[in-house]
Amino acid sequence: MRALVYLGSGAITVEDRPKPTIQSPTDAIVRVTHTGVCGTDLHIIQGRVPSCSAGRILGHEGVGIIDALGPGVANLRIGDRVLIGSISACGKCPACRQGMNSHCASGGWLLGNTIDGVQADFVRIPHADFSLHLLHSEIPSPAAVALSDAFPTAYEGGIQNGQVHPGAAVAIVGTGPVGLSALMLTRALYPSAFVVVIGRGESRLRIAKSFGAQHIFSTLNGISSTIEAAKAINKGRGFDVVVEAVGTRQSFDLAQQLTGVGGTIATLSYFNSKCDLHLDTLWNKNICLRTRLTDGGSIPELLRLTESSTIDPGALVSHVFSFSDIMKGYETFQAASAQDALKVVIYL
Ligand SMILES: [Zn+2]
Ligand SMILES: [Zn+2]
Repeated sequence: MRALVYLGSGAITVEDRPKPTIQSPTDAIVRVTHTGVCGTDLHIIQGRVPSCSAGRILGHEGVGIIDALGPGVANLRIGDRVLIGSISACGKCPACRQGMNSHCASGGWLLGNTIDGVQADFVRIPHADFSLHLLHSEIPSPAAVALSDAFPTAYEGGIQNGQVHPGAAVAIVGTGPVGLSALMLTRALYPSAFVVVIGRGESRLRIAKSFGAQHIFSTLNGISSTIEAAKAINKGRGFDVVVEAVGTRQSFDLAQQLTGVGGTIATLSYFNSKCDLHLDTLWNKNICLRTRLTDGGSIPELLRLTESSTIDPGALVSHVFSFSDIMKGYETFQAASAQDALKVVIYL
């Protein structure tokens, strides 16, 4: 089968690999029909994810058809169309029972990280019953790809962890697919909340505006003037919720400066270096800082929000390529701002 393989030191290639087989009774083999390229895949390629070694098939987002099932899978049938969650989880261990599937004792972020991933003709999914989701016919597959990771990350790490509430003043730092998902979810679920989006490039900020952001600011105009202008919108008080969706020292600094008294910083980013926490200015502001890797537990809810047209994850899909052009798909996503790329979907 065809597979996109991480070679180490910045390189990827398409290789011919053997089709995966059932290794545990709770496994499924899925014939992949659509897969997504994610910012996390770029982190791996740049050597920033030590848990992912060279030779790994990348990808943790996708949709496919069940091709084979282990004897321990109860709720799926061969031929079912399924959404592949980015997190694989048993649903039974203490972490799973607390809703922290990303810390599953025998699961977590495995796909395209510690086991072979979804950017291939076939993928083995551990704990299939709990890690795959039946897809109803009304949800198109490219749109569903955005529900594997981007939307659950935004919902769990941003909306839930940030405790977004009716009338909240919300600042979203970052205009990648996850930041824009957080925007779409806030607008759809809390129409009375007030949302400011802070990014860099004009084109993505324009998209944020079209997704319903009340105000947009570019840090290219200077960080301190951006903070001042954004806070002025809310009478200088700062924000109740700051969703940090970039993952750099600068974005974390910005998030801290935007947070108002009693506010929550909800960071949902992957950080690969340490950051400063400015307790000298925050110690008496009653703030809350929350971090999270997505658990994927919200996927059933997000599927219902999509089926009811409350959200449209398809709006995130900017480019679709066939697998024979997957390298072009990566190039497009790597040059995201020049290419106006959001979610890049590959079909097989
Ligand atoms: Zn992802
Ligand atoms: Zn578990």
